[in-house]
Amino acid sequence: MALKRDYRYRPYDSDVIGAVKRMINQSKILVYGDPRLRRRAQEVEDPSMCDALVKRMSHLLRDHHGAGLAATQIGEDKRVVIWLEEGQTRTLINPVLTLGDEEEIGFEGCLSVPGMAGLVRRAVSIRAEGFNLKGGPIKFDASGMLARVIQHEVDHLDGVLFIDRVEPGSLRPMPANEVLGI
Ligand SMILES: [Zn+2]
Repeated sequence: MALKRDYRYRPYDSDVIGAVKRMINQSKILVYGDPRLRRRAQEVEDPSMCDALVKRMSHLLRDHHGAGLAATQIGEDKRVVIWLEEGQTRTLINPVLTLGDEEEIGFEGCLSVPGMAGLVRRAVSIRAEGFNLKGGPIKFDASGMLARVIQHEVDHLDGVLFIDRVEPGSLRPMPANEVLGI
């Protein structure tokens, strides 16, 4: 017996697509497929001029219950990343990371790849250098989850998504509230 299925688009499909597009536009966070996520972001010439951008990113990050966000994820071609640390927004501008030798595998998700998670190998510890919002140089060491979040965000500035780095076969659908949203 032949299996009869009708794969033609039904009239309501255009409404569904419209609704999804509206949802994406409202979210203001670019999602997988948008070429702007694949650009290498530009260095910021004057880090002290990033206040408004960081404020906007911080609001979006909290609205989406994320852990970190890169400027490229909202279509801004600037090397700026933020993350939450003990409830506070931390900012790193023009980041340069030095990765430790030890690596570990952990689950990651991404606000730009909604509903998916996968295992990614990252350096356990990093040294981060860059500039703060006042334009002053900063340097600090981080490890564990914080090091993972910062590596993920700096990848975004180079047009790299976590799905490029997943352990083969580990990418799977996962509800947003169960994944680290970065
Ligand atoms: Zn991400």
